[in-house]
Amino acid sequence: MIVIKGIAASPGIAIGKAYVVEDEDIVVERVEVGRDALKDEVARFKLAQKATLRDLDAAEQKVLKVLGKQHAKLIDAHRLILKDTLITRDVPKRILEEGVNAEFALSEALEAVNRQFEKMDDEFFRERRHDLFDVGKRLLLHLMKRQKKSLTEIDHECVLISRNLLPSDTLGLKETKILGFATDLGGKTSHTAILAQSLEIPAVVGLSDVSRRIKSGDTVILDGEQGMVIISPGPETVAKYEKVQQRTLAEERQLEALKGVPAVTQDGRGFRLEANLDSPEDLKSIVSLQPDGIGLFRTEYLYLNRAEVPTEDEQTKAYAAVVKAMDGREVVIRTADIGGDRLSMLGIEGPKNETNPFMGLRGVRLFLRHLDLFKSQLRAILKASTKGKTRVMIPMVSSVGEVVAARKLLEQARAELAAEGVELKEEIELGIMVEIPSTAIQIDAFLPHVDFVSIGTNDLIQYVLAVDRVNEHVTHLYDPYHPAIVRLLDHVVRAAHAKGRWVGVCGEMTSDPRAVPLLVGLGVDAMSVSPRMFLRVKQAVRGLKHEAMKKIVAKALNCAESDEVRRLLESSQ
Ligand code: PEP
Ligand code: MG
Repeated sequence: MIVIKGIAASPGIAIGKAYVVEDEDIVVERVEVGRDALKDEVARFKLAQKATLRDLDAAEQKVLKVLGKQHAKLIDAHRLILKDTLITRDVPKRILEEGVNAEFALSEALEAVNRQFEKMDDEFFRERRHDLFDVGKRLLLHLMKRQKKSLTEIDHECVLISRNLLPSDTLGLKETKILGFATDLGGKTSHTAILAQSLEIPAVVGLSDVSRRIKSGDTVILDGEQGMVIISPGPETVAKYEKVQQRTLAEERQLEALKGVPAVTQDGRGFRLEANLDSPEDLKSIVSLQPDGIGLFRTEYLYLNRAEVPTEDEQTKAYAAVVKAMDGREVVIRTADIGGDRLSMLGIEGPKNETNPFMGLRGVRLFLRHLDLFKSQLRAILKASTKGKTRVMIPMVSSVGEVVAARKLLEQARAELAAEGVELKEEIELGIMVEIPSTAIQIDAFLPHVDFVSIGTNDLIQYVLAVDRVNEHVTHLYDPYHPAIVRLLDHVVRAAHAKGRWVGVCGEMTSDPRAVPLLVGLGVDAMSVSPRMFLRVKQAVRGLKHEAMKKIVAKALNCAESDEVRRLLESSQ
């Protein structure tokens, strides 16, 4: 039995016979091309480019069908690579200047770009070179008039082992009987890993030489939780893993039974347990979880990856569809929080070339500079609100003046619509996100102007602890259990309750079952959870006693370090 450690790319366990895909090496030869034939060579390259574009269109249709719009953006990324001047200009230039064949010019151009990628510190960008190779390989195969071997032809249950798996290969795997895959190359944030997670295919990557150490037919266990592959496991190990597989299945079935059951602690304290909606593709699965509502509808997707702002009509349709689907349960629509790491291509003045984008023109700050955008979103929300129960929430608020301005604009939008004869519902509640320390500290000043508050712990933690939420060098300092965070959350909850306002939490902290006892003890009213963790969080809430958690929080407020808070929480389980 041999155990090889790699990177856990997609959770789940696969047990079965290995199928090793031979690396399809493409040997590119340098061929001198005579002066007269160089133009034809460029034309041949352009034809291959067109054929590759057609491939991408077909792949896009497939992604849309299997995974939805969100993932179809991967194909856009591939299109951008194909249209990049590094390919469109550089390859013909090399052909003409060096007098070489298109295949050789292309492989040289790809290698030059790859060298740039390799130099990058950021793992996310470094991993994008697999997308580059994916496009490059398609182009080369078209030039050589060769067919790419399709993994979809594998017609038996197996664990796929290969040197590398390109995103386009991964896409087809759901149609096969492949139980999981392991590769020598790859990282956690590669598109291959992201696709595997969405397709729910267990995967381990970055195993360095696994494809040489395993032969087709070997029995293997692939552990996508721990990120390892076991070759020729003994019967005891197989039995152990089979048990884990069964336990996971049983747990999932058990969790299913929690759908529609209230999120109540053992001593009877109820919580509104809601889901976060990031894009319309998630709506169906959210509805099936039967949450108490949508506590955070992130509307940014409507503004990103496009060059024009969404029209009021488009927005109204998008919001109305969600409000309607929730059938009377509340939907908290957050006005768009563009900026920070959500860069827009809308060409509006603002979040470009900022040294500190997270502290820049973001959320309500940006919208108060572009009142037309802000008003159009508020009008669309008001129109959609007739379809059910809707609330408006403003992100990145750091001064009372911003809330006053937002409310004024909301009233203006309402008056305009009324004058246009649009029938509207009674008052719509307006709340703010508490994400900026000043707002949390001075929450009492905001309360007279709002109907509710929702704490965005993702941002609040980064600003309180001065830890960039997307900087991998300081992730160890990003700490929801920091006593300063516990104190600040407690302060906000107490102040809001004293003024009769409800408090929600909608940051990722709600989706960590280990942090849930803290939120329960703090006595928040609502938690909005990422759909993936919704039932697990409900299970956690139902297993707790509110009174006991209140005592834990009282102790946590006096802790000096987050480790003490963590230990307190662990001892409470
Ligand atoms: C947050 O900051 O906690 C939050 C929910 O907003 P986002 O993650 O969209 O910034
Ligand atoms: Mg936020």
